[in-house]
Amino acid sequence: MKKSILITGAAGFIGSHLCDKFIGDGFNVIGIDNFYTGSLNNICHLKNNSCFKFIETDITKPFEINEHIDYILNFACPASPVAYQKDPIFTLNTCFNGVLNALEIAKKNKAIFLQASTSEVYGDPLEHPQKESYWGNVNPCGVRSCYDEGKRVGESLVFDFGRQNNFEVKVIRIFNTYGPRMDRQDGRVVSNFIVQALNNEPITVYGKGDQTRSICYVSDLVSGIDKMLFSAAGFRGPVNLGSDFEITIEDLAKKVIELTGSKSKIVYEKLPSDDPKKRRADLTLARKKLGYEPKISIDEGLKKTIDFFKQS
Ligand code: UDP
Repeated sequence: MKKSILITGAAGFIGSHLCDKFIGDGFNVIGIDNFYTGSLNNICHLKNNSCFKFIETDITKPFEINEHIDYILNFACPASPVAYQKDPIFTLNTCFNGVLNALEIAKKNKAIFLQASTSEVYGDPLEHPQKESYWGNVNPCGVRSCYDEGKRVGESLVFDFGRQNNFEVKVIRIFNTYGPRMDRQDGRVVSNFIVQALNNEPITVYGKGDQTRSICYVSDLVSGIDKMLFSAAGFRGPVNLGSDFEITIEDLAKKVIELTGSKSKIVYEKLPSDDPKKRRADLTLARKKLGYEPKISIDEGLKKTIDFFKQS
């Protein structure tokens, strides 16, 4: 019999790629989303797929799933700084009550539960690159804390719930990820730069552009999530997933201009508060425990993403 996976945030950027991956691998996928940041466009190609069922619901309210679930991937949460700061209380609610409601479904079904956490738990890091053993440098009362602290308490909740109820939980910390189906309006750096470049508009670099990120193409992330979901029993993580190719934001802007052949010029705008200065995933644990290796070069990934934005 086919196994079933529940994916929360199924209409989101990463969630929708996970739906495709697991349907392709022979699972029944039940996707749920409230369309707070997700889009029907990301899943409309699955409409008539007999292995896909969609439920529109908000995970901050208790919900029921009528069929048996073997695995849960909890990806429902606004994730870009613009989106998660729009209604910070909702973000916090999703990070706590949303996770708790999804965990209750896992408990009922004895399902393996994988929580999407984030590199934001490291805050503006004082250690570089960031290993999972680093406890982070988060401003608990700043504008990013609804997401940073939300995801931190989400990790506590998942680990405690797993320990207290004695079932399998797994936590991944996702570093900046990009690719087709990013929302062109959610303010993230890759989507902003590509859309601006394609329109020959100014490229908005915040601050001096010397802050860094390690950016990962979405198919690499999906392969890491797959490996973590089916990793050895008892391996709970947290484990970093993403890319360890680090680039300054200014160099990223130049690369996007070059790859799009754009006439855009860079303009420098105010750096948002608490914007992390440096970020690079330490992938030692993912490599050792999961045999994870990101494969898509930044040029290849950006070209595929540029093609997506040209067509959409
Ligand atoms: N950024 C930028 N211009 C933009 C959007 C973002 O310079 O138009 C910078 C932002 O200040 C941050 C980095 O790019 O340093 C990554 O931002 P993003 O919002 O994509 O993700 P974050 O890693 O901050 O959550």
